[in-house]
Amino acid sequence: MLYTEKEINRFCSELPEQDIIQRIYEIKAQLGSRLLILGHHYQQDRVIQFADLTGDSFLLSRQAAECKDAQYIVFLGVHFMAETADILTSQGQKVFIPDINAGCIMADMAEIFQVRRCWEALQRRYPGEFIPITYVNSSAEIKAFCGENGGLTCTSSSADGAFRWALEQGMKVLFIPDEHLGRNTAVKAGIDPGEMAVWDRQRSILVGPENPRVILWNGYCPVHQEFSPDRISAVRNKYPGIRVVVHPECSFETVRAADEAGSTEHIINCVKTSSPGSAWAVGTEINLVQRLSGEHGDKKIISLDDTVEPCPDMLKINPRNLLRCLEGILSGGMENTVTVGSKTAGWARVALQRMLSIR
Ligand code: SF4
Repeated sequence: MLYTEKEINRFCSELPEQDIIQRIYEIKAQLGSRLLILGHHYQQDRVIQFADLTGDSFLLSRQAAECKDAQYIVFLGVHFMAETADILTSQGQKVFIPDINAGCIMADMAEIFQVRRCWEALQRRYPGEFIPITYVNSSAEIKAFCGENGGLTCTSSSADGAFRWALEQGMKVLFIPDEHLGRNTAVKAGIDPGEMAVWDRQRSILVGPENPRVILWNGYCPVHQEFSPDRISAVRNKYPGIRVVVHPECSFETVRAADEAGSTEHIINCVKTSSPGSAWAVGTEINLVQRLSGEHGDKKIISLDDTVEPCPDMLKINPRNLLRCLEGILSGGMENTVTVGSKTAGWARVALQRMLSIR
């Protein structure tokens, strides 16, 4: 029987959580391999339990593209992730997100009109000298902009390669939208912080040296920016011998003070491969930290700072809106679909494929 959107909304808002869980599993069984649910590491356990695959955003999108049977792909994550999945999957595959308003605060700090304005200013001042690189945490339009202008995308694990690729061509880098990941990566590539300028997106001006080798967009992740070197000192004083691993979306000072820094996959590996009895303070989204702690009972795993709030957009996904999304799929509705227009998708794919070719 097919339900209207209104009926689905009423039905889903009245059900207790236990019934919601049962119904989600029923729909998963009914749709079989036609349905693929992807769960980002930062999702809550009550949501991630339904994921067929878990990982970081890019890994998941790539896996979605490989699962040709999957007609319906539901992304338990935020909007740019679902967009990336839509760009990489084929036309017959539809991508859904349970809450269309789950954005990413960092990605929203770079709008395409701001990026174009910045690029025009750079072309006037430094014609042909820069390559645009965007972190995957950005809109499809910005990925497309990078593809069309000779640049590429990167993830936190491929940022080093992306910088190397640009610098080896004798080019300079405009890095969008995460100032911290850009600075941390550029320093690893041997660039002095004094050779970097910051593009102030609100005032559309360049702040820093006259002839920078790297220009950093002044965006940031409000979750990762909270982890500070002071917390690292406090944790080390409280737990002598503890090791600190942080995500490179943390500030340069925090990354420098930590023992390790890397992508979510790197953080997971650090914990997994460490010996029993070891202790880790982890500077990333709390849902991943809590999951690692639960999965590695033989190790002490704590958040580097347990006052840091979870990502508000990741929290928007819950079993109730997942069920609403799945009932919509069963009823043939297209609410909650994420579709990138073909021209934008084409250039964004160029930027993503350049990234893959240099990994
Ligand atoms: S944790 Fe930060 S970067 Fe990740 S989705 Fe949330 S706001 Fe965006």
